[in-house]
Amino acid sequence: MGVEYENFIEMKDIALDFETEESGNISEELRAEREWELPYVPENEVMRYFINLSRKNFSVEIGMYPLGSCTMKYNPRLSERLAFDSRIQYIHPLLLELVADRVQGILRIFYELEERLKLITGMDAFTFQPAAGAHGELTGVFIIRKYHIINGQNERKLILVPDSAHGTNPATAAMAGCYVKEVKSDQDGCVDLKELEKILTDKSNEIAAFMLTNPNTLGIYDKNIEKICAMVHEAGGLMYYDGANLNAIMGRSRPGDMGFDVVHLNLHKTFGTPHGGGGPGSGPVGVKEFLREFLPVPVIVERTNGVLEFDWNLKYSVGKMIGWWGNFAVVVKALAWLLATGKEVKKVSEDAVLNANWLKKKVMEFLDVPYPHNTMHEFVASAKELKKDYGVTALDLAKGLLDNGIHAPTIYFPLIVSEALMIEPTETETLARLEEFVEVLKNLVEEAKRDPEKVKGYPYNTPVSRPDEVRAVKELDVKWEV
Ligand SMILES: *Cc1c(COP(=O)(O)O)cnc(C)c1O
Repeated sequence: MGVEYENFIEMKDIALDFETEESGNISEELRAEREWELPYVPENEVMRYFINLSRKNFSVEIGMYPLGSCTMKYNPRLSERLAFDSRIQYIHPLLLELVADRVQGILRIFYELEERLKLITGMDAFTFQPAAGAHGELTGVFIIRKYHIINGQNERKLILVPDSAHGTNPATAAMAGCYVKEVKSDQDGCVDLKELEKILTDKSNEIAAFMLTNPNTLGIYDKNIEKICAMVHEAGGLMYYDGANLNAIMGRSRPGDMGFDVVHLNLHKTFGTPHGGGGPGSGPVGVKEFLREFLPVPVIVERTNGVLEFDWNLKYSVGKMIGWWGNFAVVVKALAWLLATGKEVKKVSEDAVLNANWLKKKVMEFLDVPYPHNTMHEFVASAKELKKDYGVTALDLAKGLLDNGIHAPTIYFPLIVSEALMIEPTETETLARLEEFVEVLKNLVEEAKRDPEKVKGYPYNTPVSRPDEVRAVKELDVKWEV
C-alpha cells in the first residue's frame, strides 16, 4: 500500500547495481576488518556431514511418529515439488499488491484454499497471515477482543479454557491482554456443564470467549458441544475453536455448525505440510460473517469480472499480523494436498479415528487408559501403575520406544492425566506399523516389570540419551565437527 510501481522498478534497479558493482558501494564502516576464516571443505564432506547429522535425528521419514496433538503424518513429496516450482518460488510478494493482474495464479491459490477451508470448517472468511497455530490463536483473540470493544463491552476480557487445553490457549489469552479461567472436565473428559453454568452466571459480563478443542486433547468429542456454544453465546461470549488437529472430524462435522465463531487450523498438521524444526507453519483463521470486517488486512476478494485482488478496507480490521501475506509455500502445499485428496478427505478422518481406536484397544490390554470412551484421533494412556509398582515412568517408556525405532508419543500432557502418554497414529500408518508399535510398547511394559533398572536406563543406542532438555534449548550448542 502506498508503494508506487515506479518505486518498485527503482528498487529493482538498485538491487541490480548492487550485484554488478560487487562490494563497491558498501561504506567503509560496514566492511569486515579481516578475512573470515571459513573452513575449506570438499563438497562430498559437506554432504556427508549433513546426511550424518540428519541420521542422528528421528523423523517421520524414518519411522512411526505417534506424537499426540501434533498430527505427524506423511508429507507428500508431490506437494514439496509444487511449492518449489520456479513460477511460485521466484515471485516477489510485492507483485501481489502492485500488479495483481499479472500474478492472478498466485492469488488464485490463496483463494482456492480459502474456498475449501470454508467448506471444511463451515466458516465464512479466512486470513492466511498467521504463521503458526499459536499465532492464529493470537489473531483470533485480537478479533474477539476488538469485537467486544466495538460493541462497547471493553470489560469482556475473561477467556475460559478447559483443564485439558493445549498450553498455547491460556498463553495466547494472556498475551492478548485477557485473563484466564480454567473449566474442569467431568469424569468422561468433557466440559463439566455445571461448573460452566456457574462461571457464566458469576462472570456473565466479563466473558470474552471460551477456547475449546473438539475433540479435545484427550481425543474425546464433547457430546454437549452445541449446548456449550449456546450457553456461552447466551452470556455474551464468543466461541473459539482450536482446530490445530482437524484430522478427527474433517469431512464429517464442522466447527461452524457446532456453533463456533472463530477457528484456527494448522496447515502444518492436518493438511499434510511438514512441521519439524519449528516451522515454517501456517495457522489460518476463519470467522463467521459477522466478524469478517475484523480480519487482518489485506484479504483477497474476487471482483465481478473474476479478477482477484487485495482488499485493505475492512472497517474494524485488527491490522496486519505478519510481514507480507503469510507463509505462501505452506499454502501451496496444503492446497496440493487437498486437491490430491479430493473427496477422500472424509476417509482421512475416518482412518485417523480408526487407527487411534484400534491402537487404544490393544494398548488398554497392558496400560491404563483413564478416559476410554468416545475416542477420536488420539488417546491418552497412563504409566501411573508402572511407576507405583516398579518406579518406571512415562519418560522411561518414551525413551525405550526411541531405542526401538519409534518416536516417543507426547508425554506428561494433558496435565489431567498423571504419567500421560498421548498417542496419535494418524491415518498414514499401515496396520503392520500399528502392530509393530503395540508389540514394542508391550515388550517395554513387560520388561519394566521384569527388569525395571534396564528400562530406566533407556535409550542405549541413540546419539544423545537423556539431555537436560530445558538447558539444551536455552544453551544451544551447534558447531561444525567433521
Ligand atoms: C499444535 C497445537 C497448537 C499450536 O500450534 P503451533 O503451530 O505449534 O503454534 C495449538 N493447539 C493445539 C490443540 C495443538 O495441537
